Amino acid sequence: MESKTCSDSSYNNKNGVILIDSHAHLELEPLVEQTRAVVARAVSAGLIGIITVGIDLEDAQGALAIAQEYEMVFAAVGFHPHNAKDVGDNSLSQMEKLCENPKVVGYGEIGLDFFRNRSPHDRQLEVFEDQIELAKKRNKPIIIHLRDAYEEGLAVLEKHGPYPAGGVIHCFSGDESDARRALDLGFYVSIPGTVTYKKNDKLRAIVATIPDDRVLLETDCPFLSPEPLRGKDNEPAYIVHTARKVAEIRGVDLQSLGLLATQNAIRLFNLPL
Ligand SMILES: [Zn+2]
Ligand SMILES: [Zn+2]
Repeated sequence: MESKTCSDSSYNNKNGVILIDSHAHLELEPLVEQTRAVVARAVSAGLIGIITVGIDLEDAQGALAIAQEYEMVFAAVGFHPHNAKDVGDNSLSQMEKLCENPKVVGYGEIGLDFFRNRSPHDRQLEVFEDQIELAKKRNKPIIIHLRDAYEEGLAVLEKHGPYPAGGVIHCFSGDESDARRALDLGFYVSIPGTVTYKKNDKLRAIVATIPDDRVLLETDCPFLSPEPLRGKDNEPAYIVHTARKVAEIRGVDLQSLGLLATQNAIRLFNLPL
């Protein structure tokens, strides 16, 4: 299914902007049914890389399959906190095995989600800690998902540090002190489309203070479409709206912001770009 909005000129990269979507889910519906078109639209919008993030074993295998098909797509693998209840020793070692593939550039998304509570808190914590150690053993940067669990999650991360391969708090939704603690751990802070939402002054204030060398951009597609596409299925090309807003907040032009965030993503995930 072709989306009409994508033929819009905002996704034609006539300005020479360079972008990377540091957190997407190309292997999820509805994007998985139109991968080729989604990737083509991303390229037209100026994207040179997409990291697609697996959330359980089957999904991680799907993510990796897409990464192997497209040179500009890379994969991260891990058990999302929602899926902590299904994780056993065997599935963890199978996930670890996927890390041997050179297209797997990160471990995650892992963390805590005390908003949806799809797995018991104790189990989320155990699986989070096991996977932090697994990622460290495999020397992969970790991709952290925290929702209504910043205090607990950052405490776990602080306990397991340091992180020679680095990490990122994806879809950042914490407060200023959470951002500070993440930065102190050496982590990057990834800004999603929610930064464009009218009521999100809190995130915009934080975005203004993140050091240049720690900013990443993401869509988390097919979720969280930025304005003016809020409510529609999201895709990597739409990261342009997020980048434009972040550039405006930081008082720089879109091209400089895109280049900066691209260099940061290449550094963290060691991308061969
Ligand atoms: Zn997430
Ligand atoms: Zn995600």
